[in-house]
Amino acid sequence: MPTYKAPVEDVQFLLNDVFRMERYSNLPGFADASPDVVEAVLGEAAKLCEEVLQPLNRVGDLEGCIRHDDGRVTTPKGFKDAVNAFAQGGWIGLAADPEYGGQGLPYTLAAVVNEFSSSANMALAMYPGLTMGAIAALHTHGSPEQKALYLPKMIAGEWTGTMNLTEPHCGTDLGLIKTKAVPQPDGSYKITGTKIFISAGEHDITSNIIHLVLARIEGAPEGVKGISLFVVPKVKVAADGSLGDRNGVACGSIEHKMGLHGNATCVMNYDEATGWLIGQENRGLAAMFVMMNEARLGVAIQGLAQSEVAYQNAAAYAKDRIQGRSLTGAKATDKPADPIIVHPDVRRTLLQIRAFNEAARALVLYTALKSDVAHRGGDEKERQQADDWLGLLTPVLKGVLTDVGFDNAVRAQQMFGGHGYIAEWGMEQFVRDARIAMIYEGANGIQALDLVGRKLPKDGGRAVMGFFNEVGTYLKEKGEDPALAPFCKPLGGALQHLQQATMWFMNNAMARPDNAGAGSVDYMHLFGLVAMGYMWVRIVEAAAAKKAAGEGDAAVLDAKLVTARFFMERMLPETAAHLARISAGSDAIMAMPAEAF
Ligand SMILES: Cc1cc2nc3c(=O)[nH]c(=O)nc-3n(C[C@H](O)[C@H](O)[C@H](O)COP(=O)(O)OP(=O)(O)OC[C@H]3O[C@@H](n4cnc5c(N)ncnc54)[C@H](O)[C@@H]3O)c2cc1C
Repeated sequence: MPTYKAPVEDVQFLLNDVFRMERYSNLPGFADASPDVVEAVLGEAAKLCEEVLQPLNRVGDLEGCIRHDDGRVTTPKGFKDAVNAFAQGGWIGLAADPEYGGQGLPYTLAAVVNEFSSSANMALAMYPGLTMGAIAALHTHGSPEQKALYLPKMIAGEWTGTMNLTEPHCGTDLGLIKTKAVPQPDGSYKITGTKIFISAGEHDITSNIIHLVLARIEGAPEGVKGISLFVVPKVKVAADGSLGDRNGVACGSIEHKMGLHGNATCVMNYDEATGWLIGQENRGLAAMFVMMNEARLGVAIQGLAQSEVAYQNAAAYAKDRIQGRSLTGAKATDKPADPIIVHPDVRRTLLQIRAFNEAARALVLYTALKSDVAHRGGDEKERQQADDWLGLLTPVLKGVLTDVGFDNAVRAQQMFGGHGYIAEWGMEQFVRDARIAMIYEGANGIQALDLVGRKLPKDGGRAVMGFFNEVGTYLKEKGEDPALAPFCKPLGGALQHLQQATMWFMNNAMARPDNAGAGSVDYMHLFGLVAMGYMWVRIVEAAAAKKAAGEGDAAVLDAKLVTARFFMERMLPETAAHLARISAGSDAIMAMPAEAF
């Protein structure tokens, strides 16, 4: 059976030593997040995830969700109590506005808890996770009355939230949405249509479910410019917050799917359901983007989370499983064979996963800190720079962390040989669960297009220039430091590859957009490698300083330095291959007629 231990010490090292979170103490909520408070918060979150959520991971996979004839959906045994324990611990409202019952702590801490809970039980963590996204959208775009009505209950975890975009004929292309909204004399709307694949659309965990639904008001313009966002509660809510009649929304069926069995993926039928407009008419996509951006980071974290838990189990297995002898002579002479951890290829595989996990965690936390600055900062220029980073890195994180997260789940499964293919070891569940993160919240190909087509040219390239400037300045300042030079040099080369690829798009993709489409996934991964390389250099800087000061656990710090070296020698060189593929353009890809495929 798989086990999980939340990486609390690694998070503390990143927050305290690498990013020095105390420097953000002028931001609202950060003064309350002193290192001892953070330690206590992380310790409590780890306990809940390890002891309550993780033991239910396999239960959820085996039992799945059940839809009854009357449309009710029951979740796997133990899920209801565990989600309620999560809510009662205040975890849903950790970073939410105190005016509505939240604790107002940094979003960065919520991102950490998201990683722990998604490693422990991804399907379960999505019930509160989607609620947090819906809270963010309502908080940003809801009217004061809507916020007062819904937010306190959602933040307390009494009601959950969902996002309803997808319809049978439209997923990526939301301009095709057909669900219609008809205005009523009392200011509400009647919503009619079918939404599919709605995560947590129906369940038995809470007394109400607050659906955020994209629909088209009668007579609205065609395409994405005619979409509005509505709040549609499963059970109607009176002005005093009490529950009234059932609304006209029901779960028609649930999907039987590859993984994520503990989360109900529902077809939701809206039949003249009463809904209320959130924000302005026809500006629904912009409003929903608050939830989608939050969800994209959340999904990126799912990729990391599956990679982390898969790594932990693979590393433990590799130290235990004995097969063959070391190439340099027997190591476990008291045993008939050596543990497989002695074999270079096993170590290579484990290090490849670990070098990704530690850099990806750093990148998630650094981006979460930027998100806190963007949303809470006082200085306008700092806010703008942080927002630029967040916008630019969100598709990179979503695409790269979930693509590699899945690959790593497979790599970790490989460490078990045939046993990895057998269900009881739990490794094949990680593979199945990790797969969806590459698809939902915008398939990864779409993330890459968002990066190249929207985020690069936005504001005249200000965000990407800001990224180049931040990494370039760091390299200039630290590149001569003997402890850092061996790491700065390869990063400098990789940064040049990224800059060359960016220039190539500027020169070759404006007139021929297929060149952008053909190279976008390579560009996204090239970007991810450079961003993770930057994280590794910053980790090395902090680890070397700690070591020199005689602080910290020397073995842990040495492991950081070795893993950083592995990343620079064996993973970062991939940037050259990405650049070569991008510069090849789209000719070979587009030459073949569609009927020849
Ligand atoms: C388990 C699960 C849970 C989900 N949860 C939710 C949820 O809670 N709420 C919700 O609204 N939706 C949800 N979804 C839907 C999910 O977000 C969509 O499946 C996803 O966005 C892709 O849409 P699609 O399936 O229609 O694929 P399509 O849009 O048909 O895409 C098919 C393929 O074509 C590619 N493609 C499409 N257009 C382009 C283009 N212009 N350029 C290049 N490539 C392109 C895509 O990358 C993809 O690989 C969920 C799906 C699943 C399976």
